[in-house]
Amino acid sequence: TPSAGANSECVTQTMSKALIIEDEQPMRRLLRLVLEARGYEVCEAADGQLGLQEAAFQRPDVVLLDLGLPGLGGIAVLKRLREWSDVPVLILSVRDQEAVKVEALENGADDYVTKPFGTAELLARLDVIQRRRFTRHSAEIIAGGLKLDLLHHEASLNGQPLKLTPTEFALLK
Ligand code: CA
Repeated sequence: TPSAGANSECVTQTMSKALIIEDEQPMRRLLRLVLEARGYEVCEAADGQLGLQEAAFQRPDVVLLDLGLPGLGGIAVLKRLREWSDVPVLILSVRDQEAVKVEALENGADDYVTKPFGTAELLARLDVIQRRRFTRHSAEIIAGGLKLDLLHHEASLNGQPLKLTPTEFALLK
């Protein structure tokens, strides 16, 4: 939907691409419906090997990764993916997989949801991990004249240093 004019910058939004790596077809279909309704472009892979290929080929903005995959398991997929990609990864796990969820987080997963999950929770977690990606490589937050140096915990407004307590700094951040 083209919209010319001064405001076009504000309405132009690049569609996020989500890759679903999940062997259960009903779950893939459900996820596709939810994500497409939210405006995502969706691609799917039914096993880990295909998932890695799709990740390389499609360059998704976010990956939803099932842990219980036949053949190459979710953790193995994650480890290989992290050798060359820092794409945000949301793990889809089932209950009572506490140890493997921790292992996933230790291997670079950004977050997880536990099946069965609500769509609102899923979308909220996807939003958060994608937002985090944009700030992950930057140690500064700049908003107008306000600048936060996250590395040194320093804040300034229009170049003037602000004296903030750690709590104030955290709230401002
Ligand atoms: Ca599975």
